[in-house]
Amino acid sequence: MIDPGLKFYVIGDPIEHSLSPVMQKFFLNKFKINGKYSAKCVKAEELEKVINSFIIQGVKGINVTTPHKMEVLKYVAELTQEAESIGSVNTIKVERGKLIGHNTDALGFQASLKILGYSFKNKNVIIFGAGGAARAVAVALIREQCLRIVIVNRNFEMAKKLVEDLSLLNSEIEYAALPTNCDEVERRIQSSQLLVNATTIGMGNLIDRSILLNVTCLHQDLFIYDLIYRPYKTRLIQQAESRYIRWTNGLDMLILQGIESLKFWIEQDLKLDRSSYTEIKNMLRRKVCLE
Ligand code: NAP
Repeated sequence: MIDPGLKFYVIGDPIEHSLSPVMQKFFLNKFKINGKYSAKCVKAEELEKVINSFIIQGVKGINVTTPHKMEVLKYVAELTQEAESIGSVNTIKVERGKLIGHNTDALGFQASLKILGYSFKNKNVIIFGAGGAARAVAVALIREQCLRIVIVNRNFEMAKKLVEDLSLLNSEIEYAALPTNCDEVERRIQSSQLLVNATTIGMGNLIDRSILLNVTCLHQDLFIYDLIYRPYKTRLIQQAESRYIRWTNGLDMLILQGIESLKFWIEQDLKLDRSSYTEIKNMLRRKVCLE
């Protein structure tokens, strides 16, 4: 009988935008791992049922993307220290029918800053979003020893809760929570060196929108990091370009969090050499840019 190999999934809603299946297939081939990685669109109300069916099918690992990264906390039996600190899960390992929740987004974000050659030590940052990804980015920036973190979110309660949780993690950093429609947001952008978009504004059915209505607050000392990678250049990135502001999209973070997920699932210290990194990045970039 042919060994069917290890089964992996990425779940989210929407999921069509995810490049994880193409990328993980590349990793599986590169590291000669017998396995299959698929994407499945999962609605919020189906989450528990789908996860249970994965356990029955013997699925080894699951990546979790928007909007389920916090909701899945309910269904995991155990959390790694990393997922516990971040307060959300983007990677689940199934071990003898038990779900172990982990998070590789903070590691991916931090590693991407290193690759891009940026440090935000003693700098001010402003993060749009208060969901799973925003949590991971904020934790990564705390580790980077930034000076101030401002969280801006449509649901203000979520922004305040995130700031509360971050203060418990590190009380030496200055924090502020702001609702999206407030004048102070622009002033905070003017005094920041890093702006991160960790919302879904700019992708899917929000592709024509940007978190910024007014670009006059953008300045030359600012670096814009949009976690979205599909489209390659979101409306926000187009705004940055129009003002000659430095920017990056979410491709580096995607690759770097993805390799960390695979390492966690198969418990091996996989190393992606420079040429493989360039190969997969170019492959993903081409795929997105040709759309
Ligand atoms: P999430 O937990 O579902 O959070 C979504 C965030 O977007 C929330 O802050 C939400 O605000 C905001 N949002 C959604 N629709 C909005 C709207 N119409 N108007 C204003 N705000 C809106 O998702 P996530 O997992 O954190 O992911 C966030 C983004 O990061 C996604 O685009 C995802 O693709 C990207 N991401 C990229 C990587 C990478 O490796 N490059 C990794 C992780 C995530 P409310 O709280 O007000 O609803």
